[in-house]
This record gives sequence, C-alpha cells and structure tokens, in this order.
Amino acid sequence: MKQPKRYLITAALPYANGLKHIGHLAGAYLPADIYVRYLRAQKRDVVFVCGSDEHGTAIPIQATKEGTTAQAIIDKYHPIIAQNFNDLGISFDIYHRTSAPLHHETAREFFQTLNNKGDLITKESEQYYDEQAGSFLADRYIKGTCPNCSYPGAYGDQCENCGKSLSPDELINPVSTLSGNPPVKKITKHWYLPLDRHEAFLRKWILEEHAEDWRPTVVGQCKSWIDGGLLPRAVTRDLDWGVTLPDDVDGGKGKVLYVWFDAPIGYISATKQWALDNGKDWKPYWENKDTKLVHFIGKDNIVFHCIIFPVMLQLHGNILPENVPANEFMNLEGDKMSTSRNWKLEMEDYINDFVKPENGGSQMADVLRYYLTLIAPESKDSEFTWKGFQDANNSELVSIFGNFVNRALVLMHKLCKGKVPPLHTAAMNELDQEAIDNIKATKEKVEKLLEEYKFRDALFEVINLARIGNQYMQKKEPWIIAKTLDTNPEGQQLIDNCLHICLQLTANLAILINPFLPFTAGKICYLLKVVEKILDWENAGSMKLLSVGYTLRAPELLFRKIEDEEIARQVEKLKAAAIHKEPVAAPAAPVATPEAIAVKPEIVFDDFAKIDLKVGTIVAAEKVEKADKLLKLQVDLGFETRTIVSGIALHFKPEEIVGKQVTVVVNLAPRKMRGIESNGMILMAEDAAGKLHFIHPETAINNGSGVS
Ligand SMILES: [Zn+2]
Repeated sequence: MKQPKRYLITAALPYANGLKHIGHLAGAYLPADIYVRYLRAQKRDVVFVCGSDEHGTAIPIQATKEGTTAQAIIDKYHPIIAQNFNDLGISFDIYHRTSAPLHHETAREFFQTLNNKGDLITKESEQYYDEQAGSFLADRYIKGTCPNCSYPGAYGDQCENCGKSLSPDELINPVSTLSGNPPVKKITKHWYLPLDRHEAFLRKWILEEHAEDWRPTVVGQCKSWIDGGLLPRAVTRDLDWGVTLPDDVDGGKGKVLYVWFDAPIGYISATKQWALDNGKDWKPYWENKDTKLVHFIGKDNIVFHCIIFPVMLQLHGNILPENVPANEFMNLEGDKMSTSRNWKLEMEDYINDFVKPENGGSQMADVLRYYLTLIAPESKDSEFTWKGFQDANNSELVSIFGNFVNRALVLMHKLCKGKVPPLHTAAMNELDQEAIDNIKATKEKVEKLLEEYKFRDALFEVINLARIGNQYMQKKEPWIIAKTLDTNPEGQQLIDNCLHICLQLTANLAILINPFLPFTAGKICYLLKVVEKILDWENAGSMKLLSVGYTLRAPELLFRKIEDEEIARQVEKLKAAAIHKEPVAAPAAPVATPEAIAVKPEIVFDDFAKIDLKVGTIVAAEKVEKADKLLKLQVDLGFETRTIVSGIALHFKPEEIVGKQVTVVVNLAPRKMRGIESNGMILMAEDAAGKLHFIHPETAINNGSGVS
C-alpha cells in the first residue's frame, strides 16, 4: 500500500465533567499514543489532536452537583485532565477545548455549510417546557418516578437506580428540576441530520470497503446500526450551554448544537489551533486524500465515529477516517468500572500514589502503560486487577526486561573494563548469529503489528526480545568463561562477543519499547550515554548503535519491585470508596424453613385457567377510615380503572405505592369491605418475616396485559 503523505490521529474528547479513569486511558488515549510515537519515530508527518469536550448537559449537571457554574466546572477539570495525560506520557500535539471561540466558530460554520446545502431538515415537535424558568427542558432536567422500578428520582433520559433508558413521557409525575413545577408541552423547531439518506453510502464504505481492515467488533456494531434502520438525528436542542446557532438562521435563537454534533468537530478546531501555534496549514490534514485519518475511541463511541461523523465529514467535503480501532471495555477487580458507583481507578489517583517523584517517578507511569497494553481490550472486554498489575511488573518488567538490561551493563563493567567491547567475527558461533537475527526479526514483527493496531501483540514481541537476550546470555555464560582466562586467553573474545551483542540488543530494546514505554526508553538512552536521536525507528535492527570503546554509565535498575502491601492497600482503597446503591426493592428476605412451606392439594389446569390475572398500575391509594389494615386503591387495568380494597396498610404507606405495577385477580366476585365494594384482588408474596411484596413484571408493560 502507498504510504500516506501525512497522518491525523485523534483520540476521543473526554467530557470535562470530572476526573478520568484508567478505563478511558486504556480505551483510546494509550493506544493512540503508542501509534503516534511509532509514527513519529518513523519521521512521518503526524499530528495528534485531542481536547476536552465541554458542552452537553453533563457539564451543567456536574455544576449543580458541585454548587457552581458550568464555566467553573470546565475551568476546573480541563487543566487537571490535561496534566494527568501529560504525567502518563500521552503526547498530544495539542490538547484543545471545545469552549474555545475558535471551536464555536468552526462548529457554527460546519452547521451553516450543511444547512445551506440542504443537507439538514427541520421538524417541529412538542417538548417539555418550564413556564416559570422560561426554558425548554432537556431530558436530564426532568425528574419523576421511574415506571420500571418506582424510584422517585429518575431522570427524563435514564433511571439511575435501575439503569433503564427512559423518555420524559414515560416518567410518572414529571417535574422540572429548574423550578420544581410540572412541565408543560410546547412546540419547538429543530434541525436534523437525515442519516436515512446515507444508508447506501455507509453500507458500501463500511460493510464493503472496510469489512477486512477494520476490527470485526467495529464492523459488527456498524452493521447492526445500519440494519436496524437509520433515522434523522436531531442536531440542535433547546439548552443554554453549548455552541449557539448562527445569528441568521431563522428560528435558531435560544438553541445550541447537540453535543454529539459539535464534539467531533473539536478535532478540526484543535487541528486549526495547532496549525496556528506552529505556523502550519491545517487544511491538507482534513481535505487531502493523501492524509490518513485514524480515530482512537472506546466502543461506546463507535456509532458517532463510524456512522454519524463520517456522514457529516462527507457532506462537508472532508476526508473520511481510514480506520477506527475502537477498544472494548476494561473492567476492574471483577466489576464494570463506574463513576456513579465510584468503582474505578482514576488517572489522578494512580499518579498520586505511584508517579509522584517520591513514589516511584515516571518509570511507574510506564508500568501502568505496560499493564494496560498487556491487557488491552482490543477484541473483547478485559479486566484490570491489582494482582495482575503486580505480576506484570514483577515477573516481566523487573525479571525479564529490567533484569536483562541490568545484567548487560553490570557484566560489561565487570568483564570489559566499562567499555563497549569489539565484535570478533572469527570467534562468532551460531548462538551469536541467532541473537543478531532475532533482533532484526523482532523489528519486522513489531512494525507489522503496530501498523495493524495490534498493540498488545507488538508489546509481547518486544518483551520477548528481552527474554531471548536473557536466554542467550545464560547459554554463553561469560561469567564462567571469565574464570578460565588464565589458561584460555582467547576466552576474552567470546566474552567480548557476548557483551557486544547484549549491549546492541539493549540499544535496540530502547528503540522498540519507546512507543510503549517512553520513559524507560529515555532511561536506557541515559545509561548508554546516547542522545535520544538513536530512538529513530530506522535504527532498529542495527548492530552498530553503540561504538566500540565507548564508555557507559554505571547500571541503575529500570523498574522496582511492587510489594504485596502496596497492592493490598489499593484493593482496600477501592473497596472502601465504592458506593453500594441500595436497591429500592426490599433486601432479600430470610429463607423460609421447609416446614413453613405447605403445598395445597393438586388442581387440574382448567381450575387454574378460571382465574383471570392481569397487570395494572395503582394510580391512587388512601387509607380506609377506622380500618388500620386496609387501603382503598384505584387500579388502572388498561380497559378500566377499578376500586380495590387491599389489606396491606400495615406494610405500605399510600404515597409509596402510587405508580407501582401489580398483578390483579380481575374476575373475583365483588365483595364489600367497610362499606366499600372491592372489585378484584392484588396478588402479594409474603416472605418468612411476614413482610408483603408486590408481584409485578420485571419491566413496565401495558396495563391490562394478561398473566398466565
Ligand atoms: Zn428505575
């Protein structure tokens, strides 16, 4: 394949609404950085752009949580996130932000171009509006009772208790979070990107042209989106935080671009800012076909980077991505990483505990980079464990890689007077040649794997070369030969050859490990007293990296051992910080003893079939006067609302059961209780402690649904 003239590498823009965890790092930023460092070492023309995503409702919501303004939130988190990336060696050429005026300008122009060309459509729809606040309400600004689990604090887009995706219309008793009043419906106009118009293009471009070179997980997800039917997607929304529409757009006042539309344009504005800062032209990077554009993202971003953004780019006249190597998710100690449950390891925490100079320094940034690449979720979800982290460090970085480099330097000082010994070709044997061949072969393998975005396999090959070095040294045993030099003076040539090869191999390791562990590569350069220019990729495979007779520094350990106590502390910290959400449903009931479970006499199916059971929702509940056990309920059964008297008043307060779905025996003969006619019976389960539980569908279903 023809080599691209220039590379534009992007990593997903993180939301500036809080600290980012190592799952984010492993998903997009680290693999992107490895690829970019490799391209830079190849002296290719490459720009690596990223920045904070500072729009969308996540920012004002975080502001409410922290009792401050949206602007204060982004000004707080943007610099911390940027610094965290820097401390872990993520080498962006620019880390921009979408609140920058240049971005607003760029995103507005993008919208304007598409709108003027007729590539957007407008639609009017009804949306919730807060009359007191004078504002339309984004889904997140509406709260109510979850129809699924009855949690009273569910948002208009999701219930955070049961996790169900919701629309505001599904909420029971919705209220605006701005004023606390029930919202009203009002007509609003919005712009949409009609994705349905572009199905043929997407099918051809992804499912035909990139079926082979993109990851199967990525192609698979795209296929199911396309097969599922593409719909017009709203580009604008009624919100006061984000990129406002151009002034001359009719009906655009008070609306902003939807964050999914403005955020990826952030890659373009970041490139513009980088070009301004460096006296370059940004246009070829986004417009010339000989540019290779690669988006590094996590799997939750696939639809945006493979379907929606490419449609936007194509309509706007930009180039399309060559590849979108999306990673799956990384779990942590047996559970999904989650910010809301605080089950996570933040970059900031790792840096404080390990990377600060007093705790290990930048070498420890490399240890994290090493382990995250080793377990990279390239084809399926993977799991970070502190034990795995410790093992990877102690048994690979310390015992294999660090050990080899250290032994080469120690022996060279001891057996070769501290100078790089010559290679005596006449005294070379098969083992020497094999070691040299392995260096060259490893370079080829690593290069091929990196070009294919197979970072964990590439890293394995580099570590394997250090393993080969150790085995070679072990077979040559220069320390044994040194003891026989009195009787066998030619032995010095064998020692020289061994250490000459081991030192050239060490210099090669620095080049090959550099994209993955840049701080370690720098440290090896320091020990070898060579400038970092040696790390140019073209030098890999060479056996002339160190001149004969050159003096080297005294050995220093590359990696330190990680002790059991350190990882025990981390596991403890993780568990102590985790938030265990109490389910709204009662905790599991004590197990009933066998004698408490009596089974009634057998019946035939026809007996059972006489009972008509249906699902209904309790829409009102009140106490029955002078009857402390009874509640009078109104139950919506879909076809009618019935009065049912139920003996559950000791177990439930009327206000806590409104909105709950229940199972009702609807063909039970009416019965008067305390003067009220009850038209049915609500099924209840009683646990061993005597507590009552409703029997209801797992997720909300239509009232009137039959139960059998
Ligand atoms: Zn819920």
